[in-house]
Amino acid sequence: MADSSHRDTDHPKRRILPPFSVLSVSSVVKNFAMSSAKPGKLVVVSGPSGVGKSTVVREVLAECGGRVKLSVSATTRPPRPGERDGVDYHFLSDAEFRRRREAGEFLECIEVFGRGHWYGTLWDEVRSSLAGGKWVLLEIDVDGAADVVRQFAEAVTIFIRPESLAELERRLRSRQTDSEDAIQRRLAVARHELQLADRYEYQVVNVTVPEAVRDICEILRSRGLEA
Ligand code: 5GP
Repeated sequence: MADSSHRDTDHPKRRILPPFSVLSVSSVVKNFAMSSAKPGKLVVVSGPSGVGKSTVVREVLAECGGRVKLSVSATTRPPRPGERDGVDYHFLSDAEFRRRREAGEFLECIEVFGRGHWYGTLWDEVRSSLAGGKWVLLEIDVDGAADVVRQFAEAVTIFIRPESLAELERRLRSRQTDSEDAIQRRLAVARHELQLADRYEYQVVNVTVPEAVRDICEILRSRGLEA
């Protein structure tokens, strides 16, 4: 007599995927042995710090309704004023981040800005949502994005650009959250990221937030997101 538990043994639900493996969303769904008729997709959004990604992403989520969910990243950087743990980021100590990294809890993680601050996407933020048919939006840097695409070839990739570097610098300064040193580092990273923008399937220039939101929603619909 067939024993249904074999299926779980063959496809363990909590299999930790090795980095850099090519794996489609549908095989993740099979690993969960769940029955969502239409699996979700990963949507990777990158862009230089200060370009207005968070605002655009927030509006996209509001516009697209419940089918798109934001993955809350983990980071070791301290919260900025007004940022909330579990909402803007999961703020972790260095030790806790390392423990989770060694336990294989990250889909991707990376040290951004070369200053000892780690950022990463937790599998927990992604796996069950995809299996449940949600589109999961990752707001991550260019190196993390490359890692995700290596693992999820079907991910939709979008790069948000500033109108110019001068405009980006103006935005960074107007935030008044970073030291001069931090602004210069962010601008240096931005130059590097802009050079890699053509790795992305789509580039959206953030001239105004409503236009950028409309463009991104159009991209998602063109890739199969139902209205
Ligand atoms: P911020 O400190 O301004 O919130 O973010 C700094 C940079 O880290 C941004 O470029 C952001 O996209 C990136 N970032 C945020 N979360 C993640 C993540 O989970 N993974 C990676 N690779 N980068 C992230």
